[in-house]
Amino acid sequence: MTFPPSAPPLSDVQRALVVSAHPDDVDFGAAGTVARWVDEGIEVTYLVVTRGDAGGFDDTPRDQMPLLREAEQRAAAKVVGVEQVEFLDGYADGTLTPSIELRRDITRAIRRYRPDRVLTTSPVRRWERIAGPGHPDHVAVGEAVTCAIYPDARNRFAHPELLRDEGLEPWVVREVWFQGGPDPDHIVDITQTYPRKAAALAAHATQTSHEDVEARMRTIFQAVARRAGLPEGSLAEAFTVLRTA
Ligand SMILES: [Zn+2]
Repeated sequence: MTFPPSAPPLSDVQRALVVSAHPDDVDFGAAGTVARWVDEGIEVTYLVVTRGDAGGFDDTPRDQMPLLREAEQRAAAKVVGVEQVEFLDGYADGTLTPSIELRRDITRAIRRYRPDRVLTTSPVRRWERIAGPGHPDHVAVGEAVTCAIYPDARNRFAHPELLRDEGLEPWVVREVWFQGGPDPDHIVDITQTYPRKAAALAAHATQTSHEDVEARMRTIFQAVARRAGLPEGSLAEAFTVLRTA
């Protein structure tokens, strides 16, 4: 099973919500594209499910890691131009499943921020490469987000406490973008915004300071651009884009 061909992106998007499992997911997979959205005047919000408490490579005290990684993601967002960053509480890095509780918490964010477009990690694995995009937390968040888009956020009888206790009316998300899935076919030229993506990645010092991430990323995103036939030296991110309404 894989995705159908991408739909052409909507042209009238005012608000976008990015949902990721860990601090740094959006910056590795999508920050160059998000920076373009910000430049186009789209209001972008990040919702991060965990504080990445199982990440890192050095001997940072483990109780410091969530605090450091939250601060890193907030700094990275600022570089890209995203002002609003929200973290969920109660979810530990490495333990995510598309549970009804996670669907409810994502539904709450969708109803509060009312995005036209949602970007998240792919719920479909790339079987040729199990690491990275195939982290179980990424797959779980992609599935929970998809369930929150349909049916939960648009059905007033789903998670009834959201309407009853918090006054959150149903909301229809019209489009979803998946990063890290199999055969992504919607290419975004990020040559102009790449310096901001690189700075955002550098902000995740607990994750990226042990290697030359910038050089590795440049190679990856140049290859994406080359495969898409963009001019030599261009950089690109790739997604699957689907209509959800
Ligand atoms: Zn991750």
